[in-house]
Formats: sequence, structure tokens, C-alpha cells
Amino acid sequence: MTQLNLAVGKWVVGDCGKMPSEKNCKLVMAAPEDQREDLLDASVAHAVKHHGHQDTPELRGEINKMLETIE
Ligand SMILES: [Zn+2]
Repeated sequence: MTQLNLAVGKWVVGDCGKMPSEKNCKLVMAAPEDQREDLLDASVAHAVKHHGHQDTPELRGEINKMLETIE
């Protein structure tokens, strides 16, 4: 199995499996901490396209709260 060879440092992870959803979605997205905004954009795009959410400031806020920082 290929290993993920991530750069050292802090990473922000969005785990769709932790979002309340009727779909059994297990999508996990990650970005370096300094690209948190990119991850947020990607997460919002996913939520809109795949889960039928509206792209609103509220949704962005909700998703932003779900992002976890790991090292
Ligand atoms: Zn999802």
C-alpha cells in the first residue's frame, strides 16, 4: 500500500464522516495549515455539490468549525 508522504507541520483535516448527514459519506480532505482557506473552499464545494447544501456564510462557518488541526 502506498503511504501518504505528507510534509511535516500542521495539517487541517475535514472529515465529512463527522458531519451530520443522511449520506454515508466518508470523504476526508486535508491541507497544510497555511492553505486552510483552500480546504474550506473545497469542503464547501463538496457540501454543495454532493450534499445539496447552499453556499452561505452559515455553511462556511459550520464547516470551518468542523476542520481539525493535526500534526
Ligand atoms: Zn460528504
